[in-house]
This record gives sequence, structure tokens and C-alpha cells, in this order.
Amino acid sequence: MHKEHAYISLGSNMGDSQTTLTLAFDEIDNLPQCRLLTKSSLYLSSPMGPENQPDYVNAVCLIETALEPLALLAQLQDIELRYGRERKAERWGPRTLDLDILLYGNQTISTPELTVPHYGMAEREFVMVPLFEIAPSMIMPDGNAIALWVAKCNLDGLRRLTTSEQA
Ligand code: ATP
Ligand code: CA
Ligand code: CA
Repeated sequence: MHKEHAYISLGSNMGDSQTTLTLAFDEIDNLPQCRLLTKSSLYLSSPMGPENQPDYVNAVCLIETALEPLALLAQLQDIELRYGRERKAERWGPRTLDLDILLYGNQTISTPELTVPHYGMAEREFVMVPLFEIAPSMIMPDGNAIALWVAKCNLDGLRRLTTSEQA
């Protein structure tokens, strides 16, 4: 069976976000034809977009999967719904769980349902810093080292939760 590596981002700012993310790692590991290989620490970040919402807890993980990209997206959206995700009109509003596909092998995907690499990852410190933690020598799709991408991010408002702070 052909397997690919994929990086997934996790975010939550409603409910018990730390517990949700911890459980979400297990949910991803338990998906059909998916195995969790590496997970980052949990991070706290100031919200992107609307500011009148709680801080986010963010993380990323690396999986090995035989699911095709769209099938993986459907499985991730199923987890989101099971953790109480409601789709609202407001963009980037508060949510119990957001799971995005950052990278899928070295594929470039551009369909109405799925854009890979994820279009926003380069500017998002809450994605790039945890990604750097688990893949410090990665070469990014533009050919540059991940460290260069991280160096361009604004790290204000991002903080790694210490082991004793993590749920
Ligand atoms: P953003 O996409 O800016 O991070 P968001 O995560 O809040 O915002 P959602 O409402 O969760 O946006 O998702 C909207 C749609 O984005 C999804 O229904 C999905 O079809 C699409 N989408 C496109 N590319 C991706 C991707 N790489 N990972 C997850 N969803 C994606
Ligand atoms: Ca997102
Ligand atoms: Ca999303």
C-alpha cells in the first residue's frame, strides 16, 4: 500500500482546548490507514482575525497515511464535527477544533475543497513554530529551509506551554 507523510495543524479556542487537542492526536492516530508519527508541544497564541475571542491552543503533527488527500480531509472534518465544531459565517471565529492539512507528501493540490500546501501557513507563527519543533531541517515548498520561514514570522503572542502547564 502506498503511504505518504502529511503534516496536520490543530487549533482550538472553545471549551477545554488543551484536552481537545490531546484527544485529537489520538483520534488522528486511530483514523483508518493513518498512523501518528510525531506531535509537537501545545502552544498558546493570540487569535488571528476577530480579537474578541479567547486565545488559541495550537499544535501540529506528522502522520503516515494511505488515505488520499480528500479522504484524509473528510476524516479530519469528521473529527472536527465529533468535537462540536460548528461552521459559522464569521471567518476565523472561535471554534472547538480546527484541523487543517498543511502538507501532503510533496504534492501540490488546488481544488475547491482542498489547497495544499495550506495557503496561510507561511505567515502563521502558530503553525510554523510547532512545525519547526517537529521538523527543524525541513525544506519548504519554495526550496528554503524552514528556519528561514520561521525567522520571517512575528512571534509576539505565541508561547509554548511548559510540560507542567500541559493538560
Ligand atoms: P483557514 O483555511 O484560513 O485556516 P479555517 O480553517 O477557519 O480558515 P474552515 O472553515 O475550517 O477555515 O475551512 C473552510 C474550508 O477550507 C474547508 O471546508 C475545506 O474544504 C477548505 N480547505 C482548503 N484547503 C484546506 C486544507 N489544506 N486543510 C483543511 N481545509 C482546507
Ligand atoms: Ca485553519
Ligand atoms: Ca480549517
